[in-house]
Amino acid sequence: MARPLKPRRVEVMPEVSVFKPAGVPMRELDEVVLTVDEFEALRLKDLEALEQEDCALRMNISRPTFQRILTAGRTKVADALTNGKLLRVEGGSYRLAMRKFRCLGCNHEFDLPFGSGQRGLDARCPECDTTGAQRVGERGRGKRFR
Ligand SMILES: [Zn+2]
Repeated sequence: MARPLKPRRVEVMPEVSVFKPAGVPMRELDEVVLTVDEFEALRLKDLEALEQEDCALRMNISRPTFQRILTAGRTKVADALTNGKLLRVEGGSYRLAMRKFRCLGCNHEFDLPFGSGQRGLDARCPECDTTGAQRVGERGRGKRFR
């Protein structure tokens, strides 16, 4: 029986989902699929240079699981670079982290994707359709926002 996968928490969706070697027709290329959770593991560890323990916490998974995802992701990227394969980022077991906002006009609370760069001032309230919202502190993160 397959173990059900717990969705991994992902803060940032890839802006580009296909990386293709120049000058080779798509149909002649082998393809490597990097899952979104593997992409997030690479981003946290290799770009943000966080400790593995912190990466695991951010993705809401155990450290061994994080290590496994990270290794799989690195292998795929190396394979694509080394062998000139098309790299596609898609799928995997994940959920996009949301950030809570409170409308300054009507106090309605709503969620927006974590990494969307919205600071609240340009966030549009789905209830009263005005802009201007305040970020509500995340649960359990000990972080407070004005
Ligand atoms: Zn509102």
